[in-house]
Amino acid sequence: MTGAPDPSSLRVGQGFDVHRFSDDPARPLVLGGVSVPGAPALAGHSDADVVCHALADALLGACGLGDLGRHFPDTDPRWAGARSLDLLAQVVAMAAAAGRRPVNGDCTLVCERPALAAHTSAMEQVLAPVLGAPVSVKATRAEGLGAIGRAEGIACLAVVMVAGPLRSP
Ligand code: MG
Repeated sequence: MTGAPDPSSLRVGQGFDVHRFSDDPARPLVLGGVSVPGAPALAGHSDADVVCHALADALLGACGLGDLGRHFPDTDPRWAGARSLDLLAQVVAMAAAAGRRPVNGDCTLVCERPALAAHTSAMEQVLAPVLGAPVSVKATRAEGLGAIGRAEGIACLAVVMVAGPLRSP
């Protein structure tokens, strides 16, 4: 599948993920495949990369392939400490097997800390070759509201558009 996509083959999916901060000083904070200083790591079964998780869920949604927890359950020891970029790559492969090609992805990180503006372009450069399409990463704050506003963790929203198969129902 190359060239401009057939508009009737386009689908979108949305993803959301949130993880609380960990109290393990040995874990790095990984967002969009990039190690980010200035805040504790996120707690989770995998590396807790909320950007990869939200993007992967958005891609699964666009393809009608369920959700991340169905494919990579956090009760499965195979995914303990997993690098979420690798999970995203596996979801891209699942989409390809279903005849779907990512067109673009867009993510919004929501957190009070750390400051992410200096890191979002690095995340875009890491994520785009894995998704196989341009990825935009933005960051915003929750203005002190709710758990994210109290700096208890980091959330991410994502959308992914996919094209194909050419004659989809
Ligand atoms: Mg997650």
